Amino acid sequence: MTAVHSTRMLVLGSGPAGLSAAIYGARAGLSPIVVQGLQPGGQLTITTDVENYPGFRDVIQGPWLMEEMQAQAEHVGAQMMWDTIVEVDLSERPFRLKGDGGTTYVCDTLVIATGAQAKWLGAPGEAELGGKGVSACATCDGFFYRGKKVAVIGGGNTAVEEALYLTNHSHDVTLIHRRDSLRAEKILQERLFKHHAISTLWNKEVARFVEGEGAAGLVAIELRDTVTGEISQLEVDGGFVAIGHSPATEVFKGTGLDLDDEGYINAQPGTSLTNIPGVFACGDVMDKVYRQAITAAGTGCMAALDAERFLQAADFPVPEDAIAGHPVDPLIEHETVAG
Ligand SMILES: Cc1cc2nc3c(=O)[nH]c(=O)nc-3n(C[C@H](O)[C@H](O)[C@H](O)COP(=O)(O)OP(=O)(O)OC[C@H]3O[C@@H](n4cnc5c(N)ncnc54)[C@H](O)[C@@H]3O)c2cc1C
Repeated sequence: MTAVHSTRMLVLGSGPAGLSAAIYGARAGLSPIVVQGLQPGGQLTITTDVENYPGFRDVIQGPWLMEEMQAQAEHVGAQMMWDTIVEVDLSERPFRLKGDGGTTYVCDTLVIATGAQAKWLGAPGEAELGGKGVSACATCDGFFYRGKKVAVIGGGNTAVEEALYLTNHSHDVTLIHRRDSLRAEKILQERLFKHHAISTLWNKEVARFVEGEGAAGLVAIELRDTVTGEISQLEVDGGFVAIGHSPATEVFKGTGLDLDDEGYINAQPGTSLTNIPGVFACGDVMDKVYRQAITAAGTGCMAALDAERFLQAADFPVPEDAIAGHPVDPLIEHETVAG
């Protein structure tokens, strides 16, 4: 026997985008169900200090911020499900999705907020020094390295943009690349090469991230020459891995949802609308430019408002309880079917 949960708005993902969509959806009377996925709270749960989320003068902790967002979403009526979606059928409305334990979710609108994970090198010391000198986000963490020596690892647009961004804080930025030329667009390369604060190290790959005595955080990066095999060390305070991101859209392949060639969801410019009416996308899964908690939260709000307008225009029947001001508990609506 497996459960079936029905809702007017199903939200996939519980990062800033998904939880913001849930808050707005609940307050619009849509009784959203949030499927949290394998990382409840999203990417901010794996960081410590957050200094750029508006509303907090003091430094706050990423996991705390996400607990507060979840508590707010639940407070206004969103239901959290500890589940991960493994099957998606968007061929007709209501849409049908399946969780990894066999639970079925039936929804009039679907908000996809599954995020994108930074790719890591897998080098020794990288995971251990995450947040202690090793980062995958210059916009998020560059400020912590004011006046310090930093390195960026990568050769594409992201790496060059991260290196240029870091010159706002550091006069000593080294770009490390395992080949002897960059993949980044020519205009970005020109800006990089003429910047007085940036130097490049060619044909070098990271052998390991080196921690200082007494758990002092990152102090150097050990490099291996990809041509000669020679080992060297670059002393740095911060190492930024910039080798790309993987949007969490594997489960949508073959469903008819329009993805770009990197797997990001294509949303109509300035909206959260996808190519499938009733399906909305928000946060890092549809944004490869900004990738911030505040932009994810902003697009999450847009997705909920777009979903609400879609339901209004589609003239979907509104449950009696919702009209009376008592949002329908989607878990009460569930039916039980043979599995
Ligand atoms: C180390 C680190 C530090 C950062 N620091 C900052 C910072 O200081 N300031 C800032 O603004 N930004 C920061 N960011 C970036 C910020 O975390 C992201 O931009 C933001 O979390 C994106 O939000 P999101 O909701 O789109 O996705 P995510 O936070 O990635 O959340 C995705 C959610 O989708 C769920 N999910 C995935 N697949 C499925 C599925 N199949 N079924 C159900 N659920 C699924 C996951 O479990 C997760 O809950 C940082 C990122 C990292 C990695």
